[in-house]
Amino acid sequence: MNIIDDDLNELLNDTISPTSNIVFITGAGISAPSNIPTYQGGIIGDQNLWQYNNYDENTLQFFKKNPQQVWQNHLKFMLKVNRAKANAAHIAIDHLLKKFPNNINLITMNIDGLHHMNNKQNNIIEVHGSGHKARCSIHGEPINIHSLSITNATDITNFIKCKKCGSVLRPHILFFDEPYEEQFYFYDKALQYIQKADLVVFVGVSGETTFPEEAALIALNNKTPVININIERNIFGDILALQFNNSQIIEDAVLATPLLCQSIDKLLHRV
Ligand SMILES: [Zn+2]
Repeated sequence: MNIIDDDLNELLNDTISPTSNIVFITGAGISAPSNIPTYQGGIIGDQNLWQYNNYDENTLQFFKKNPQQVWQNHLKFMLKVNRAKANAAHIAIDHLLKKFPNNINLITMNIDGLHHMNNKQNNIIEVHGSGHKARCSIHGEPINIHSLSITNATDITNFIKCKKCGSVLRPHILFFDEPYEEQFYFYDKALQYIQKADLVVFVGVSGETTFPEEAALIALNNKTPVININIERNIFGDILALQFNNSQIIEDAVLATPLLCQSIDKLLHRV
């Protein structure tokens, strides 16, 4: 099968020049081939959150009462993350980010940090935070949890305290019951990337959260072309496909993303 077909080639040719801004938006589907379950799924056994309705344990309200439980869940998830390796889809996007820092931006909804492994650029936004970090609810500044030497799983909260005020740090991730605070999640900055984009590429996005829907609306208003890579159809992708002709690639991210990135690479070089 030809993943980048004639219609898609035409779209890319018409859209991309050496001055183009291209925004990648990645979701759980890009990390699934690296064996990362959805964050919530990791807590309750490699299944999708929604069918277990585990909403309550991923809230700030729950964290305030049960920090130990939330940290246990989180560290269990991070055990999987720490064993995972970036896959061909992450690597292809990272390569473009490094090669074309003025053309490419990445917004990821994943907290696994797999996009960061080979990339020191600042054109990446983790719009739901990072599972590798923790922060004080009062004093802010996220710090790396790997520096905290958490050794006693039975009383984690003793090890995760703010040096300034002694309160228990929270995971630096967006809970379901709180708004995106700009200083931590750069939501508005991410939307500005979309406003300026000449092309938006979704990879492995299911559309269950606010960000991709809002990003898609901006693209639609601006008539910005959108490409959507997903291993299977979902409602978000189908709605996108209705609005943007020929924009859907139903294929594994690790197969489709490197091919798309190669095409983009060539067109950004075009004189
Ligand atoms: Zn503090």
